[in-house]
Amino acid sequence: MTWEERWHPLRQEWVILAAHRQDRPWSGETIKHAEAEVPAFAPDCYLCPGNSRVSGQVNPPYTQTFVFDNDHPCVSESAPVALAAPPGIYRSRPARGIARVVCYSPQHNLTLAELSIEETENLLRVWQEQYSDLGSRDDINHVLVFENKGEVVGVSNPHPHCQIYATNFVFKFIETEARASQAHFAETGRVLFQDIIRAEREDGRRVIAENDGAIAFLPYFARYAYEVFVAPKQTHPNLATLSEVELHDFAEVLQRVLIKFDNRWQMPFPYVMPLHQAPTDGGDYQSFHLHLEFHPPLRKPNLLKYLAGPEIGGGNFLSDTSPDEKAAELRAQPDVHYKRSNSK
Ligand SMILES: [Zn+2]
Ligand SMILES: [Zn+2]
Repeated sequence: MTWEERWHPLRQEWVILAAHRQDRPWSGETIKHAEAEVPAFAPDCYLCPGNSRVSGQVNPPYTQTFVFDNDHPCVSESAPVALAAPPGIYRSRPARGIARVVCYSPQHNLTLAELSIEETENLLRVWQEQYSDLGSRDDINHVLVFENKGEVVGVSNPHPHCQIYATNFVFKFIETEARASQAHFAETGRVLFQDIIRAEREDGRRVIAENDGAIAFLPYFARYAYEVFVAPKQTHPNLATLSEVELHDFAEVLQRVLIKFDNRWQMPFPYVMPLHQAPTDGGDYQSFHLHLEFHPPLRKPNLLKYLAGPEIGGGNFLSDTSPDEKAAELRAQPDVHYKRSNSK
């Protein structure tokens, strides 16, 4: 039985760990997931090549990735500047920014887990370009790249894609992580995320995948059962400065994590995946270490992690699974995607 509080050094908050049930580390359970046959091209998909979108624009016959401005942006360069004056002490301002969509592949029925290493590397290059392009603009203070995957996180279109919100403000989690990293650096002269990597490698039990240039681990302080961080080993505040070799290593570790996720229950694994990179507001972020975070909402195939009293009501996570056990489950998964090994 584990019953303790663990400090989340990046978010600067406690995670309550109450893993009372002694689940065996690896039960081998899978669900018979009746996967509906998804076609490689869907005539009614607004992301497939050659189809038209709500804006009336027609997608080009793209063959790799495709980036376009979101037709339903939540932030925009053309946000109305004249706003109604708020009452009393309230404040408001225009929601300025740029929202984009990145299609990973022209193929409607693929997922990130099924892209080749080369295709994954190519996608990382697109993210590099987008960060540099959007982040260099005066009115953009942060670039958030994220993918929502699966119907349980509200995505009904399986076409593989992510979104980019380039905003005039810095998202809260990034702000907290940046502040924590700066304080740690000022105090110790070390990069906080390097200390996290060191602790994970010393323990070793929660390292999911690793090569020369990149590492993936299920952190000691995980809030979700299958939460995994993927990062380059060298500190880079953003993707743009990664070398080709580091990019390749990052893509390789990322792919291994994604394949293990899908293999866990032999189904496309749902998640929210934000890419955490340093703000672009001109601040000093040399201590910020870029990383991808996976926040999978499922604890079991049909069982969601419900956010309730502690999380929504109080703001701290209560986890009832053991990070060591969940990491062991992922580590035990093969590195070949089940769809590929099943088809042999
Ligand atoms: Zn499509
Ligand atoms: Zn983060």
